[in-house]
Amino acid sequence: MSMIQISNRVNNLSPSATLAMSQKSAELRAQGVDVINMSVGEPDFNTPSFIKAAAEQAIEENYSRYTPVPGYMSLREAIAGKLYRENGLSYEPTQIVVGNGAKQELGNALLACINPGDEVIIPTPAWVSYIELVKLAEGIPVEVYSGVDRDFKISPEQLEGAITPRTRMLMLNTPSNPTGSVYSLDELKRLAEVLDRHPEVMVLADDIYEHINYVGEVHSIAEIESLRDRVIIVNGVSKAYAMTGWRIGFMAAPAAIAKAVTKLQGQTTSGASSIAQKAAEAAYTGPQECVEEMRRAFERRRDLIVELARKIPGWTVNRPEGAFYLFPEVSGCLGRKAGEREIKTSGDYTMYILDEAHVACVDGAAFCAPGYMRLSYACSEEQIREAMRRIAEATAKLF
Ligand code: PMP
Repeated sequence: MSMIQISNRVNNLSPSATLAMSQKSAELRAQGVDVINMSVGEPDFNTPSFIKAAAEQAIEENYSRYTPVPGYMSLREAIAGKLYRENGLSYEPTQIVVGNGAKQELGNALLACINPGDEVIIPTPAWVSYIELVKLAEGIPVEVYSGVDRDFKISPEQLEGAITPRTRMLMLNTPSNPTGSVYSLDELKRLAEVLDRHPEVMVLADDIYEHINYVGEVHSIAEIESLRDRVIIVNGVSKAYAMTGWRIGFMAAPAAIAKAVTKLQGQTTSGASSIAQKAAEAAYTGPQECVEEMRRAFERRRDLIVELARKIPGWTVNRPEGAFYLFPEVSGCLGRKAGEREIKTSGDYTMYILDEAHVACVDGAAFCAPGYMRLSYACSEEQIREAMRRIAEATAKLF
């Protein structure tokens, strides 16, 4: 008999639905099926050459030792420079902690600030990891839902209604994964007015998609003066510079939080990879044209996928203003049959699309939004056309 025990902490976690879908599509591919993968959340571009060159140089120059726990000072200065230049925000390097991707710093922020039983407000649809990270920190995730009819953005009234004496944090992701929605400065100000009445509620601002937006400007809730002393910004190089595998992200926070996170990180992972940090430093200090070039490509793809998606029967789509996701409501396709196969839920529909159209997407239920499906358009225009043609054909069979 096995004596192995798995902790309740881990048993209570849900496995990542996006990774499960990637695996299923990889299996089909291994069988020789031509699957178009729209389930992944990463740019399809290669890391720009000048960034790769900086990493090579770092290897040559023997950046091979342990790094300071919160990251190299030169990188934290580069990040402070970026926050000032692009966001108009002044941070000291001592307020910045670099880690293994934005994801680690989201988890660290929660572990450093949340006590068991504290409530964390999560506007949904939300990225798969938010709820699980809150659960890991023994906090209570409080979902506040807003659908496609409201562009997936929560109202100040909804925020006010969700706050209780136990609320300690709001997690806000704009531009959003999975919806692509972007809060305007005015909308952020109106949420901030609510938070002004609740000084005990901190804000965890996930700005990872800031550069991938189609509105010409994007605002962080950290810009709002009255919230400055309780906002934690999380951002990184993964999306803006096509560097998902390099694993560099950061948080910029009130000094006490940065210090607490440094203590935590010092006992868990230590400083992030030396080579990747030098590459990230080049990304933040080097020429920025690559960011705009990739943004423009995503914008063309956004226009294309929205146009094609509007023709699919049973779908309701909005026009996402950022990130590289489309989040159609597919409930018009449910309660239908393809031969013997019944499509009851968005999960059934997503599987039907994989099996019938050979396009891998993610069930909206993974983002706390059953009835929806997420498509990542970080792929070529040709793949977008072909995927939408196949989805339209498979979906038509249900009608
Ligand atoms: N936040 C959101 C909303 C994301 O979509 C992702 C990546 N999928 C992350 C954070 C994590 O990014 P990183 O690669 O920097 O860990």
